[in-house]
Amino acid sequence: MPKHDLVIIGAGPGGYVAALRAAQLGLDVACIEKEAALGGTCLRVGCIPSKALLESSDLYWEAKTRFADHGVVLKSVEIDLARMQRRKGEIVASLTQGVAGLFKKNKVTRYEGSGKLLRAGAVSVATAAGEVLLESKHVILATGSLSAPLAGVELDLDRVGTSTEALAWDAVPGHLVVIGAGVIGLELGSVWARLGAKVTVLEYQDRILPGMDSEIAREAQRSFEKQGLTFQLKSRVVAAKASKKGATVTVEGSEGLACDRVLLAVGRVPNTSGLGLEAAGVALDKRGTVIVDAHFATSVPGVFAIGDLIRGPMLAHKAEEEGIACVERIVTGHGHVNYDAIPNVVYTAPEIASVGRSEEELKAASIPYRKGAFPFLANGRARALGHTEGRVKILAHKETDRVLGVHILGPRAGDLIAECAAAIEFGASSEDIARTCHAHPTLSEVVKEAALAVDGRALHI
Ligand code: FAD
Ligand code: NAD
Repeated sequence: MPKHDLVIIGAGPGGYVAALRAAQLGLDVACIEKEAALGGTCLRVGCIPSKALLESSDLYWEAKTRFADHGVVLKSVEIDLARMQRRKGEIVASLTQGVAGLFKKNKVTRYEGSGKLLRAGAVSVATAAGEVLLESKHVILATGSLSAPLAGVELDLDRVGTSTEALAWDAVPGHLVVIGAGVIGLELGSVWARLGAKVTVLEYQDRILPGMDSEIAREAQRSFEKQGLTFQLKSRVVAAKASKKGATVTVEGSEGLACDRVLLAVGRVPNTSGLGLEAAGVALDKRGTVIVDAHFATSVPGVFAIGDLIRGPMLAHKAEEEGIACVERIVTGHGHVNYDAIPNVVYTAPEIASVGRSEEELKAASIPYRKGAFPFLANGRARALGHTEGRVKILAHKETDRVLGVHILGPRAGDLIAECAAAIEFGASSEDIARTCHAHPTLSEVVKEAALAVDGRALHI
């Protein structure tokens, strides 16, 4: 029976990064992945392909609607969707092969097949050549998540599909109905709207992006509406079904809505199927999430879990940090993730990014705060780019001035939030950001001005 120091099941950002860190720390590590390509949901059918299509569709949209403002006049602009999809596939292939290369370089043993936990210290892999039994003192479960189903929605994976299908369509739908105004609904809804689809987003709650700062979410909704997306809030979808020519979606209390394609995006659920967790005694909560302690230990000694499989936001970078902390804890006895400093980015146009607490959370926890906001409209670089929508909003503790939360709607918000995450990680005050020299002219000056605004002394407004 092959024996390793550590066996990891799942090679997504949680699992593969944990494997690399374990190898750096000198462990004999093996990683089991059932798909031929490494990298998990994120690299194969998540973060990377969605961002490739968001970039391509944004260029098309810019060429059609904004180039003329810059004095760049195109006689006609056309989409070659097949080329766009091929480019996406090439990016995915190069990155997943890159992970395979990193495994080789770091001497991580790769098993291709489905992994199953047999008991503490024992794992089986169902490979094409038969079953392989592995022995390991430590096992990390990192099998990620799957699209959440919705009662009444019949997925045929053609007319009615999930994000995986919506990333691969070979034609622009005439009318796309998106179920759920969360991150996936808005990102992929934006892609297809930019490419020419009529997009209707049906959302159960009375707002888009539940969980994110509501002021920023309201402003974002207005911006998406200007781009042609239609939102029907307080609309609970109870059925969706493919027909010969298209599909029909039914909202509670309404007639069926006819469309060409449907994207179901009502969240994701932990992927524990076939992992043998129940028999091995690994405790799950009611939602099927693997229960772990502060150090990622499950109820079975020597078995750990990370990423989308456990509590917390389902984000690739959160999974990576957990993988690193989990391995470091196993090897060195230390390892920690600061959940207060995990950024969250929605890659729409404008982008939406946040880190730390929202105003709603601070109010609910009775934490006194001061707020500073600054609009991109008053920033020279934003003007030059022609992207002036949105603002940076900084929330700092009323007495200590410590930065508690930052919320951004605007160009490159996903890059700007990195400075704010570092500020929270270092326990910085808004005064620290305000007194840091920011290059001119850059979008980052909006962060500095928002920090000055916390103390009522923004300069350029
Ligand atoms: P996963 O990436 O899901 O990896 C789990 C791996 O385990 C998979 O490769 C799976 O094949 C494998 N596996 C499962 N069961 C077994 C088994 N029994 N044996 C062997 N292997 C198994 N997050 C961001 O931070 N930024 C984004 O921009 C972003 N965009 C997204 C866009 C979309 C469309 C989707 C769907 C998700 C997106 N996410 C994004 C979320 C992100 O993909 C996940 O949070 C992240 O992939 C979770 O990492 P993980 O390692 O926990 O699991
Ligand atoms: P989500 O939780 O972000 O949004 C789901 C939405 O569906 C919610 O607004 C919810 O109110 C709504 N909903 C639920 N039931 C409904 C019903 N019956 N009718 C109408 N609306 C309904 O989920 P998602 O967009 O599917 O994304 C899943 C996960 O993937 C997220 O947790 C996210 O963290 C991750 N993800 C991240 C990124 C990123 O970081 N940029 C991108 C894509 C996905």
